[in-house]
Amino acid sequence: MTAPDLEQRADHIVEQIDRFVADGKRVVLSSSFQTQSLPLLHLVSRSRGVTVYFLDTGYHFPETLEFRDQVTEQLGLDVVSLHSATTKAAQVGPHGHLLFAEDPDYCCYLNKTAPMETVAAASDIWISGVRRDQSETRRQLDEFVVRSDGTTRYHPMLDWTEPMIADYQERHDLPRHPLDDRGYVSIGCAPCTRNIPGSDRGGRWFGMEKTECGLHVDLVR
Ligand code: SF4
Repeated sequence: MTAPDLEQRADHIVEQIDRFVADGKRVVLSSSFQTQSLPLLHLVSRSRGVTVYFLDTGYHFPETLEFRDQVTEQLGLDVVSLHSATTKAAQVGPHGHLLFAEDPDYCCYLNKTAPMETVAAASDIWISGVRRDQSETRRQLDEFVVRSDGTTRYHPMLDWTEPMIADYQERHDLPRHPLDDRGYVSIGCAPCTRNIPGSDRGGRWFGMEKTECGLHVDLVR
């Protein structure tokens, strides 16, 4: 893709978000603040009026929290960190271990899905940066999905590819997550992320059947 084509796509996304805001919609973005999140965060920073939500599970790498703060300042974003309403002491499975070791689906539900659902229910537009080239599950998503509660999910990066993300990243000199240099490709919570160079989401929930945290699974037809 040529540079003008890429920028045209980027402008189209900003224009779409601007229209939502101008129409008085409450627009939110959920972001995991990885390197590949940066193009969308950069686009959102051009469109004032969007609140960015970071799901602070309490299990992130310290580097991710530092990167979140660095990017927030550099791009001038309005970022809110969400926490689970359930204390960690109460997040223990029947065998006495923390839930990520015994029931990761429920762990993701308590720490990611439930806090974000509260925000989503009070929003008109929920943007996220999922892409079709990330996984089989995501290949089936649509750009716009209206939920049963009326909130519209907007996936502006759906047809962007990994090379397009890298190209945009380079053109705009966007910062990179510090763990990139250590070979991590997709970075989530520390207990559930393995360093598997060359595998996009293959290092997430490595060795488990699980491939999604739950934020996007209800969107698949
Ligand atoms: S990714 Fe792992 S640690 Fe993070 S919320 Fe999900 S199961 Fe828990």
